[in-house]
Amino acid sequence: MTTAQPTAVPFTTEDYAARMARVVEDGRSAGLDGVLVTPGPDLVWLTGYQPTAITERLTMLFLTTDHEPTLLVPTLERPDAEGAEGAPATTMMDWPDGADPYDVALGLLRPDGSFGVSDNAWAMHLLGLQGALPESRYQSLTQRLPMLRAVKDDNELARLAAAGAAADASYEEILKVRFSGRRETDVAGDLADLLRSHGHEQVDFTVVGSGPNGANPHHEAGERVIEVGDCVVLDFGGLMFGYGSDTSRTVCVGEPTDRIREVHEVVRLAQQAGVDAVRPGVACQEVDRAARHLITEAGYGEQFIHRTGHGIGVTTHEPPYMIEGEEQPMVPGMCFSVEPGIYLSGGFGVRIEDIVTVTEDGGTRLNNTDRTLQIVG
Ligand code: ZN
Ligand code: ZN
Ligand code: ZN
Repeated sequence: MTTAQPTAVPFTTEDYAARMARVVEDGRSAGLDGVLVTPGPDLVWLTGYQPTAITERLTMLFLTTDHEPTLLVPTLERPDAEGAEGAPATTMMDWPDGADPYDVALGLLRPDGSFGVSDNAWAMHLLGLQGALPESRYQSLTQRLPMLRAVKDDNELARLAAAGAAADASYEEILKVRFSGRRETDVAGDLADLLRSHGHEQVDFTVVGSGPNGANPHHEAGERVIEVGDCVVLDFGGLMFGYGSDTSRTVCVGEPTDRIREVHEVVRLAQQAGVDAVRPGVACQEVDRAARHLITEAGYGEQFIHRTGHGIGVTTHEPPYMIEGEEQPMVPGMCFSVEPGIYLSGGFGVRIEDIVTVTEDGGTRLNNTDRTLQIVG
């Protein structure tokens, strides 16, 4: 089937420059002289640059209070880095093989400065900087930089909505394929093909958990042959225009038992309760509490063995997390999953998941396929 593919509005140099300025400002408010970012989701968000292979060679974005944003890359990777969408918003520097990249970094950092380091920095690079600048100090940005990324602008929201719509279209089509008599990996392959045909450039996961395999939330897809009567957890997603999709539905092959119907309905109502709890200013943990309350009341609290959700953006799993103890308030523009589940060891599992974005007065789902129990062949 051919589909008219949507397109994305490119991010501008000003978009990237504004993100970098926000990071510098946020670091300054935390008493930092700068923020150091290595390859990973933070760097992608800040520059659009993702090296083809992340190696021992130092690549680092220096966002300091006393220099223009500077991207230091290995000389051989400079042409690739210069091609990145956000590269014009940085000064580019390179270091050749054989040189000491930490010596180059010396010129960019206050010797006794205090710096934040992105979570993806390899220990060897941080230790290299500490060796070159023994008076400098470093701290984690786990609670800061990913939280800046967590609030999406309109262009990012449009990409997330496009990714969600493509995942929904893939789900509609997977309902028409044959499940019984085929291996989980066959259906998983179909899902991956569908995501790509609907515009995903990258498929990150295609969970097909049939029968007892569905009771293991981390089961991806295996050699098990799907049988009539199986409950099957489908959870799939990847990247489209650089932004993630992630949705789950649980289907039944042929007529479901009363037990499957009952458990599925509990999860469906819990998922609805979680979405209903989305509201700006409310703590993220309230989403988890709302969904978990229904499942616990129904007697399955012990079988809901994971957090209710996670953020999504340039990666398919990132902060904020919808979990007890997360007091971070929801902010319009945040995007995250609401995905309660019940896992009956040795029996079956049910999970229902939508991506939800926080609006001015509540939450809007980016996945909108039917959440009732669908029967497949
Ligand atoms: Zn998922
Ligand atoms: Zn998820
Ligand atoms: Zn997940």
